This record gives sequence, C-alpha cells and structure tokens, in this order.
Amino acid sequence: MRPFEFAGIATRVVFGAGTLAQVSQELERLGAQRPFLLSTAHQADAAEALKARIGDTVAGVYAGAVMHTPTDVTADALAAFHASGADCIVAIGGGSTIGLSKALATRTGADQLVIPTTYAGSEMTDILGETQDGQKVTRRDPSIRPETVIYDVDLTLTLPPQLTVTSALNAIAHGVEALYAPDANPILSLMAGEAMDAFAKALPQVVAEPGDRDARTQVLYGAWLCSTTLGYISMGLHHKLAHVLGGSFGMPHAETHAILIPHVAAFNAQAAAQALAPVTRAFGSAGGGLWDFAKACGAPMRLSDLGLTRDDIARATAIAAEQPYANPRAVTPDAIQGILEAAWEGRRPAA
Ligand code: NAD
Repeated sequence: MRPFEFAGIATRVVFGAGTLAQVSQELERLGAQRPFLLSTAHQADAAEALKARIGDTVAGVYAGAVMHTPTDVTADALAAFHASGADCIVAIGGGSTIGLSKALATRTGADQLVIPTTYAGSEMTDILGETQDGQKVTRRDPSIRPETVIYDVDLTLTLPPQLTVTSALNAIAHGVEALYAPDANPILSLMAGEAMDAFAKALPQVVAEPGDRDARTQVLYGAWLCSTTLGYISMGLHHKLAHVLGGSFGMPHAETHAILIPHVAAFNAQAAAQALAPVTRAFGSAGGGLWDFAKACGAPMRLSDLGLTRDDIARATAIAAEQPYANPRAVTPDAIQGILEAAWEGRRPAA
C-alpha cells in the first residue's frame, strides 16, 4: 500500500429526510445569533420558508446568487451582509448559492451552514471559483470550507429530471478523479467506490420515478461521498477541462461535467485501471460503460449541443494545455484535442 496522510473530515454533517427541521439547533451549536440567508432568485421561496422556520433572529435574505460566483454579485451580497448585522451565513441551494456563501465567508470569517439541494458537491470542499472580467479563478483555503452541512433528501425531490442526471454525473466526476488522485487515500477511495455503487443502482430508479425517496436518498448519499472526496484531493484532467469550458466558453457547469467524464475516465483508465476498479465494477467500464450509463439516464452526450463550435476545440485545447496539473496519464495537446473532439461529437469512448 502507498503511504498516505489524511487529516480527517472537517465538516459536521447532518444527513436524512426532514433534517431541515434541525437548522435552528445546528445554528445554536455554531453559536450563531444572526443568520444571513442565501439562495438564487429561482429558490427565493425556499429561502423565505427557511426564514419563517428560523424566525426573528434572521438578519437578512439575499436571493441573488448566480452561476460561477461573479465578484460584483459577491460585493453586492457582502454590503447587504454587513448592513444586516449578521454573524453567520446559511445557504440553501446548489453550487451557485454555496459558491456565494463561500465567497462571503472567506471575506468575513463568518461561519457557514449550507443546505445543498443539488448533487454538484461544493458543500464539503475548501474550493472557491470566482469570476471577474470573464475569467474564473479557483483557489483553496480552509476559511472557504463550510462548518456544517445539512442534507435533506426532501429538498431534492423538486430537482428537475435533467439537472438530477447531470448533477449526479458531476458528482461521479469528483469520485472518479478522487480514485486516481496523487493524494488519494484508502478512506477517500472507499467513499468514492461506495458512491459509484449508490449512483449505479439508484440514479436509474430516480430517473424512472423522481419522487422515489429511497432512491433519492441513495443518490444524495453518493453526492455527499463524492463531495467529500473532492474536498481532500488534487483535481486532474477532467476538472481542468470542465473549468476551461465553463470559464472561457460559458458552458453550463453540470452538463459539461456530465458529457466529459466518460471520455476523461476512458483516457485515464489506461494508466489507472486499478484505481478505477470501483468505476468498472459499478458501470461495466470506466469509459464506454459510464458513457452507456449516462446515455441510458438521459444525459446530454455532445458538447456541440451545448453551443461549443468545432473551432472552439483548438482554443480550448491550447488553454487546457497551458498549465500542468495532477493526472495519472501524461497529457499532451493531441490527447486533449482527441478527448474534446470525441465529447463534441458524442462518440462512445473506445475501450
Ligand atoms: P446551480 O446551483 O446553479 O443550480 C441550478 C439551478 O437549479 C438554479 O436555478 C437553482 O436555484 C436550481 N435548483 C437547485 N436545487 C434545486 C431543487 N432542489 N429544486 C429546484 N431547483 C433547484 O447549479 P449546480 O450545478 O448545483 O452548481 C454549479 C456551480 O457550483 C458552478 O458555479 C460550479 O463551479 C460550482 N461548484 C463548485 C464546487 C466547489 O467545490 N467549489 C463543486 C461543484 C460545483
């Protein structure tokens, strides 16, 4: 066995159905007196319902979170946070809302209690991506990691079918990269492997019956596992490509991850077959098997359908090849181009 270091998981987690009822108790545990609530405009009702649940101590509500954490939105929310006299942040929503929460927390030192409603997996990580002047810059810092996460399966029942599938594949991508990361460890690998099994069994059931609470529980469990692994590993080629396509080409986050991951997994399987054994076990193979699974679940399969042009591939390749990053297989510009072309065309990855 490879030697490893692992400092342990830093975030308190409450997982189950109906767990939102514990929010005041969890705020008390944090010593928070004046929570500031965050959501997107789309989930403003959820934020208002949360405000009603918490009661008079709520210092303010900011329902303006948007994708990719633009710094001008953060500045606006920060002014509202300070004006409200809040002493902690409560975010209810997907990665966009959690991103705003992290951006406020790292600027104010306020504790965060986050309530994820997608499977994107930002909640367990110390990673923050922020966009300024059209550039998305990602950094890691302990002040970014939320203190408490409440997973409530009931909140995921409203997740639209398409986002359910793409968001779950976004989570799967975290687990895949955790398995072959240079700083992988046995605990994280067990978690990623368990997640693959949970997704393989439960996601098709959720697609067939979106209100199936047991299957939704399994998928949310997988999302928690994958988010946790992402929080403790160095990201590889997959996250690099997703970052380039999201940051420089405005591609939608979850869909881009969903399309790319079978192609990157197929590429890396040649150098990391053993590490990826849990993916093979769950889906048949890390490339074609995962691609078949995504297709059967109704995921988008072609980058061309998301508005990327063939000419964009060369520029995306050049940007992705600029900086080195951890990856089990050596990455050349030709390899990047091959992966992007296959994902653009929606070709099933070869074995
Ligand atoms: P999102 O947060 O933008 O959510 C998409 C839309 O779905 C929003 O309108 C949202 O309000 C709505 N929604 C969310 N949950 C819902 C529910 N249960 N029912 C109905 N509607 C719901 O999308 P996302 O994919 O969760 O997050 C993407 C963002 O998260 C990106 O900016 C990405 O960079 C970031 N992210 C960061 C990390 C990290 O570790 N820093 C990890 C993963 C994702």
